[in-house]
Amino acid sequence: MLDKPDILSIIKAAGFQPIRRGSRLFILCPFHPDKNPSCLINTERQIFHCFACSAHGDVIDFVMELKGFSFPEACDYLRIKSKGSSNRSNKAKRKIKRLTPEEKFHVEFAHLLRLRNEVVFRAAFDEWLTNRLSFLSEIIDKLERTLEAISEFFKHLICYISTCNVGKPNAKS
Ligand SMILES: [Zn+2]
Repeated sequence: MLDKPDILSIIKAAGFQPIRRGSRLFILCPFHPDKNPSCLINTERQIFHCFACSAHGDVIDFVMELKGFSFPEACDYLRIKSKGSSNRSNKAKRKIKRLTPEEKFHVEFAHLLRLRNEVVFRAAFDEWLTNRLSFLSEIIDKLERTLEAISEFFKHLICYISTCNVGKPNAKS
């Protein structure tokens, strides 16, 4: 059996801010464009389930999908010692719908904008930018998308910078 870390801790460490509805915890789903938190985190069963897009699974599925990891990469990331035999193929038990590159861009960028911790934001932004460079060059190739996408990007960035202390010299005081 795998000794998996707590799903809620991993989700919080990835920058999600769970909100409580009654006894249940929800996050904005990273697997579809979500405006109202619809992804349930069940800490008893240690699973997540999105009521909007049906994304579903355990902490390993979450990390595999969020980071685009294979099963062994997700185990490394979660510091799980996988005992060889129990492998898991990508997409095996997940019902996660493939997003278009544009939807994925918006979902991921919206997630970045919600990070309110400077250190987490910087690390996530660096990682995101590295992973998305090929996509950015693709959209720049599509002329009609370019202006819209770039202006959207900077609007989000300005909005982010103006609503938190990122970049301000007195952020640490
Ligand atoms: Zn969803």
